Amino acid sequence: MLYLVGTPIGNMKDISSRACEVLEQVEYIACEDTRVTGILLKNLGIEGKKLISYHEHNKVSKGEEIISILKRGSDVAQVSDAGMPAISDPGEDLVSLCIKENVDFTVIPGPVAAITALVMSGLSARYYHFEGFLQSSGSERRKRIDKLKEYDETIVLYEAPHRLVKLMNELDQEGFGDCRIALCRELTKKYEEVLRMTVSEACEYYKDNEPRGEYVVCLEPLKTKEAVLDPESIDSEILRLRDSGLPVKKIAQILSEDTGISKKELYAHVLNLLKS
Ligand code: SAM
Repeated sequence: MLYLVGTPIGNMKDISSRACEVLEQVEYIACEDTRVTGILLKNLGIEGKKLISYHEHNKVSKGEEIISILKRGSDVAQVSDAGMPAISDPGEDLVSLCIKENVDFTVIPGPVAAITALVMSGLSARYYHFEGFLQSSGSERRKRIDKLKEYDETIVLYEAPHRLVKLMNELDQEGFGDCRIALCRELTKKYEEVLRMTVSEACEYYKDNEPRGEYVVCLEPLKTKEAVLDPESIDSEILRLRDSGLPVKKIAQILSEDTGISKKELYAHVLNLLKS
């Protein structure tokens, strides 16, 4: 059996007892960086595991090797350096291989930086788009940033500290200047910090402050104000929520959270619309 095991994103205590049990039981552990996983195992007091280096650049050859180990009947855990495998990290290909080769696998869930940040951000967590890392430069990066303008849900990005200022400036130039942003840094670690401001304020802020550490960027979408506040969109959202079986009170509450319009006002509007 293959176990895709979630590991901490900073705070070593954020590992589940099930994850510890699995890491203790398996014969092999496939990991991105054997040194990083070695530290985790040492911390957990786990010894004697056969570590297989499995990363972006050897995933084809090592993937086959892992599958043949699994087919021989041994258990393998796969971990990334931090967080959940397959989330902006290796793992996805191993899952596809297991499905193709009819090999059993399961997931032992753990922390994800994106989700931790989304909850910390204060932005709407009801709908979100996970972008992960943008390409570091070039036309693909520009295309993706352009695509971000189309979303009407909170956008969650991973970005390296040395590219954070560039990202803020690009978002500003692309019209996101007034959108709220939460810059979630070093989550679960000693210097955890969340800066909440607008994109253009962030551009100013980073003129005097150098970004350091790991960041998740949560961005308010461009479309919320125009699209959700436009009466036609509100009405179609009301009908969609009604069709999904929600009562009037709940519909008013959800839309009030999403739009900032008072619950009372929305309640009256929903009643009116559904009557007609
Ligand atoms: N698999 C991981 C997960 O489940 O979140 C993501 C791995 S990805 C290679 C690494 C990126 O995740 C970092 O560059 C950063 O953007 C984000 N990240 C990971 N840990 C973080 C933390 N403690 N605080 C803020 N961002 C973090």
